[in-house]
Amino acid sequence: MTRFMPVRAGTYQISSPFGQRGGGMHWGTDFAAQDGTKIYAAQAGTVVHIGRADGFGQWIVIDHPEEAGSGTTVYGHMWDAHATGLRQGEQVAAGQHIAFVGNNGESSGPHVHFEVHPTGDYRVTVDPMPEAKPARGGIAGASGYRYWTMSVTNLQEITDAVAAAGYKVRIPVMEIAPGTKISMVEDPDGNWVEFLDRD
Ligand SMILES: [Zn+2]
Repeated sequence: MTRFMPVRAGTYQISSPFGQRGGGMHWGTDFAAQDGTKIYAAQAGTVVHIGRADGFGQWIVIDHPEEAGSGTTVYGHMWDAHATGLRQGEQVAAGQHIAFVGNNGESSGPHVHFEVHPTGDYRVTVDPMPEAKPARGGIAGASGYRYWTMSVTNLQEITDAVAAAGYKVRIPVMEIAPGTKISMVEDPDGNWVEFLDRD
């Protein structure tokens, strides 16, 4: 399984990370880059949404089959999501050029807003359905359940920020091994996001 960054190394700067921003949560990562910089599919999959979208101006949503890592990735703010000729229902390869960075919608400078939804609930279901349906967003006893891990260095700070923004902290900061701490929070879709801080 191959994963790519949505823009090539050296062509972007992270202008807004995942986390609290202006009193709310920012559920993605903003890659600032020059208008027209190429955007690549992070994983292989099927284009399930493309075109106009509130806030993003335009967006592309790609659903990833299990062999390509599962989940959904979202790319926002391009001027024209069809600029490369991409259409809904088409298959893309990991690392395929799918769009160009723009400054469309609620955007204060050219960037691509990128989200990863390992278990996003608006996507086509790709996980094999477990015998007993796991609680949405739950880990305990949930066979086949996936969650997203982000490595951070300010674990307590980001966990507190998520709580302050009104979202559920499922597992407060805890040390799971010497030098390794985690916390788990829940996003608006009910997915759990793990923050991992290793010394
Ligand atoms: Zn963003």
